[in-house]
Amino acid sequence: SKTRQRGGHGYYTQDMGADIRERVKLLRGLRSAFESERLFVMYQPQLQLMGNRVLGAEALIRWKTEDGKFVPPDRFIPVAEYSGLIVAIGEWVLRTACRELNRLIDLGYPDFRMAVNVSVAQLRHPDFIAMLQSALADTGVNPAQVELEITESMAMEDVNFIVQIVDQIKQTGVTIAIDDFGTGFSSLSQLRHLRVDRLKIDRAFVNEIVAIDKGCDIARMVVELARSLHLEVLAEGIETEQQAAVLRELGCHEGQGYLFARPMEPAQLVTWLAEHRG
Ligand code: C2E
Ligand code: CA
Ligand code: CA
Ligand code: CA
Repeated sequence: SKTRQRGGHGYYTQDMGADIRERVKLLRGLRSAFESERLFVMYQPQLQLMGNRVLGAEALIRWKTEDGKFVPPDRFIPVAEYSGLIVAIGEWVLRTACRELNRLIDLGYPDFRMAVNVSVAQLRHPDFIAMLQSALADTGVNPAQVELEITESMAMEDVNFIVQIVDQIKQTGVTIAIDDFGTGFSSLSQLRHLRVDRLKIDRAFVNEIVAIDKGCDIARMVVELARSLHLEVLAEGIETEQQAAVLRELGCHEGQGYLFARPMEPAQLVTWLAEHRG
């Protein structure tokens, strides 16, 4: 209940006070984790749905606290965005993922694609393009093998800005996916002006899929939209064989999810890839 606190903190409700204290604590912990290298990156394979050939992986950040617990990114990414710490953390994730891409190429996966999540707070930073260019140059990766994932809700909040930054990103040679597609409110006309390469169907809509004629309306709509705009489409959060089958039938070419593999540490990924070769 939001009862007013007496005394010195009269401006805040108790809930707000607790919320702010919680955020400050989380931010302090996150900053210290970043500085003492307790953040790391896991990689979840992305596959071709026809034949299950591996295309690449998505880099996903992890925070392991000193007592060995994991803080889920959905909890700490908002705090990192709000505080601006995401700028430094995001650059570190990008560089880490590029180095991992180089290692995978050396291990015999020359066409591997590495997808990296990018927050709007990063995109809005004036040095974002310069940061991206130097991360690509310093690691020496082929930009065409790096994909940035931008969530739909943020892609649509300021269309003019996003159209411009997407054009600048594309000039570096990397590809762009719109993440969580179907959850925002982008119109066809907005989408036409965005030079993106791929739509990722949000896992909430994949989760609804039970049969070809039931509950796959949004998934079907996204696949058709992608086709009409000549974009690639990838379904995330695929957990069952049936979901994969329906998506194949709808004409969705790419997928990702626990059915194929969970996010893995680099060493695990290498083992998994060796088992899924060919
Ligand atoms: P996202 O980009 O939509 O990533 C997909 C999330 O779904 C990941 O959660 C992944 O582990 C999970 N997932 C994958 N397959 C399945 C499945 O079959 N079933 C279910 N139930 N879940 C599945 P995760 O790793 O906890 O990340 C959560 C979110 O945190 C991400 O959502 C992304 O928005 C954000 N995030 C993660 N890493 C980064 C990062 O490096 N930078 C930024 N800015 N955001 C990140
Ligand atoms: Ca993503
Ligand atoms: Ca997503
Ligand atoms: Ca998400």
